[in-house]
Amino acid sequence: MNRVVILYRIINYLYNYDPAVLFLHLCHVLFFLGVRPKLCENYENVTVEVVDCPDLTKEPFNLAAKGINGNVSILDVGDITYIRPTIQRDRAYDLRGIPKMVGDKESFIIGAGAGLWWYYGTACELMINAVVTEDNVKVPLSRTARIVKGKEKPVIDTVPDTEPGFSFMAQIHSSRGESGKVIKIHCQKRTGEKNFPVAVQDALKRSFPNSALGLGGVMMILKGRIRQHVQPEFSRSPLNTDEDEKNWLKFFEMSSPLTAIGTILTKDPGLDVRLLHFHSFSENEGGHYHNDVTPEDVEYLAYFSLAKNLYRVDRKLDKKEGLMNAWCNL
Ligand SMILES: [Zn+2]
Repeated sequence: MNRVVILYRIINYLYNYDPAVLFLHLCHVLFFLGVRPKLCENYENVTVEVVDCPDLTKEPFNLAAKGINGNVSILDVGDITYIRPTIQRDRAYDLRGIPKMVGDKESFIIGAGAGLWWYYGTACELMINAVVTEDNVKVPLSRTARIVKGKEKPVIDTVPDTEPGFSFMAQIHSSRGESGKVIKIHCQKRTGEKNFPVAVQDALKRSFPNSALGLGGVMMILKGRIRQHVQPEFSRSPLNTDEDEKNWLKFFEMSSPLTAIGTILTKDPGLDVRLLHFHSFSENEGGHYHNDVTPEDVEYLAYFSLAKNLYRVDRKLDKKEGLMNAWCNL
């Protein structure tokens, strides 16, 4: 085939292509060029692609909806200061409020937060994984991890649909649960110091220094061991410093596979938000993700979608100003 024919075919191909799809592909190419080399600084094998989202209701994901597309939003609810130095028991939220807030009839929500202490009688980690409407929890697959006296490992429970609340704080990715294109990031063998969400955040920050990007979804830990914490019962003395908090939390090494869900923001657009938060679960284990402890063996497989809006709910401000809800475009 001579060059003229090849050129003709390329022009013909582009001419017949939907310009919107072409633009999307161009964005993908720019994305790969920027992000992949930076992830290679932290992992030996790295793949970054835009792919059709696999069915996330299937193994190994076990999520409440098939995809993470459609009106994608990130909601940052509450504040860490509602937990420390002392807990504020009146900080409670209802996940069924999310569809109305983001302008949908139902929402597929995934993320990391503080569990239902009033239901379980103790502090606990919450892995939000549900489809909610204004009236009910349609697919109730959220989990909690909690410390139970006399048990060596944290206890994992599925949260019943009768308990649609959470306490203190959460970072939530909300979508219509639709299939479609998502960002796939696959990394094996950690060679750097950064944990996976930090490495992705760093690569995005350096690739798009002038943008505030927010993404979320599922991060599978397919191989290796993971260090996670689970909150024990509430501390009787105030947690004034990071050291106090570290001494209060219980840390565990947990085995893969684990399904982690959460959000990554590249910068705070002035709303006082938490930039990274992932909780993970399996049938028997779960907690707040910190890092992997077996860099040689570790393997991550993540599917993320980019958020269009960021909602800030019940932000703690100066007492005179009171509480405030706010949102911005990402
Ligand atoms: Zn957490």
